Amino acid sequence: MEIKTDERIINFIKRKIEKSKNVVAVLGIEMLVESGGCDLDTNDENYRVEEEYGFCPEDMLSTSFFNAKVEKFYRFYKKEILGMQMHSTPAYDALMRLHAQGKLSAVINQNFHGLPQDVKLNKIIDLNGSIHINQCPHCDKDFDMQYVINAKGIPQCDHCKVAIRPGIRLLGERVESAMMTQAAVACEAADVLLILGKNMYNDRLEYSAAPEHEQLKVLFTKSEFEQNNKVNFIIRDDICKFLPLIIN
Ligand SMILES: [Zn+2]
Repeated sequence: MEIKTDERIINFIKRKIEKSKNVVAVLGIEMLVESGGCDLDTNDENYRVEEEYGFCPEDMLSTSFFNAKVEKFYRFYKKEILGMQMHSTPAYDALMRLHAQGKLSAVINQNFHGLPQDVKLNKIIDLNGSIHINQCPHCDKDFDMQYVINAKGIPQCDHCKVAIRPGIRLLGERVESAMMTQAAVACEAADVLLILGKNMYNDRLEYSAAPEHEQLKVLFTKSEFEQNNKVNFIIRDDICKFLPLIIN
């Protein structure tokens, strides 16, 4: 198993986690990709999607596109977003071990796919919404993901006959402020912050500890260009290979 990170760094992070009482994990796009999902933000994907739909993913996942071209939105959304097949990875197993030890105080999920089905973790903050919670904009009735998938064409509220709003945050919308506060409070209190991949939205959410509070911050990213002087370590190994090394 090739691991690029120096063994001393691995042992250092591992000891910090052993001593920690309060770890917070922030799930990003790399976690999704390692679980079988697809990063629509790569050049190849942008090109493929634009060939097929005439627009890039970023255009289509916006409020203005949803309002103007709801049929095309759902054609893209059902196939490309809801069509991703997700499975668990050893990284999730490691997080479940931390959870069982009572050390994982919160999981901030920046992906809107939710966790793989067999992953049971508490205190999840779905910062960018969830594909599982969809709502009628008129009567607020909730619809699950299966209802959206099964609908022919545009999924409509069975009562009001209007297009259902998908439960994910679209570009152009703000993160709910209560949720943002919850995430910020969790991060501030953490002694170890594991940032597991980048946010699929490019709005940079800054996670930081209270100034007087000592915190180890580790960022996992595959991007060679990523420079971040606000974290202690940048790890470029696969998260699913690395987390099992630092979490017993
Ligand atoms: Zn309705």
